[in-house]
Amino acid sequence: MNSSGILIVGLLTLLGLAVGSFLNVVIARVPLGESVISPRSKCPRCEGELANRDNIPLISWLLLRGRCRGCSAPISPRYPIVELVTAIIWGGLTAYSIASGSLGLLPLLLASSAILVALFVIDLDHKRLPDPLTFLLYPVAVVGLAIDGLVTGEWPCVPALAGAGCWLLAIGGIWFLSGGRGMGMGDVKLAPSLGLILGWIGVGPAVVGLMTAWLLGGAVAIGLLLARRARSGTAIPFGPFLIGGFAIGVLAGAPMTDAYLGSMGF
Ligand SMILES: [Zn+2]
Repeated sequence: MNSSGILIVGLLTLLGLAVGSFLNVVIARVPLGESVISPRSKCPRCEGELANRDNIPLISWLLLRGRCRGCSAPISPRYPIVELVTAIIWGGLTAYSIASGSLGLLPLLLASSAILVALFVIDLDHKRLPDPLTFLLYPVAVVGLAIDGLVTGEWPCVPALAGAGCWLLAIGGIWFLSGGRGMGMGDVKLAPSLGLILGWIGVGPAVVGLMTAWLLGGAVAIGLLLARRARSGTAIPFGPFLIGGFAIGVLAGAPMTDAYLGSMGF
């Protein structure tokens, strides 16, 4: 990667920090149906509004040593963790796209990763995926794929729709067969948008992503049952596994498919 590439990766990493800071607001407020624009963030204990200098991603938390300036109440390390993770994802996706020479998908990967980080944490917190975020992913996906189509001149719409259909059938099927207990309706609403993006990248990545989500979800469910942390019927949020499977499909789906087909002699 040349120096301008490194500069772009650095800038997008910093932007990712700021986006992560906004995602903390989204994660706290969207499940409660509150506005993400106003009012300003407050300390939940002393209700003091956060000054600008205390609202700098990551840095403020470190300088304040994880405590409110007003009342010294501890501030959860989750805030800087979400910021750091988003920054790493944005920097990593940018580096990956520059290195592989396929920049057309980058806007979509950045936007969808931000939405999915928020959905991931909200599903762990509340065991549901709020409609405003799952439905936002559809227009984002369509616009992002159209940008990629314009950049590359390739429009793999048929595999994209096939991917969306596969994910809808697989996740909707589990939802239907389990009577809504193995899988929530939020998972069913989320799945086709993930399948659409993966299918656009390739049929292999769409299948790899779905299989990975299933395997991860199944492995964790069995692990929890064995550790007696969960009883059958305990709701385990499945959104994080769908999102994890999607990430593996995007990043490793194509090489994994090639390796598998190669081993089969194709
Ligand atoms: Zn306070």
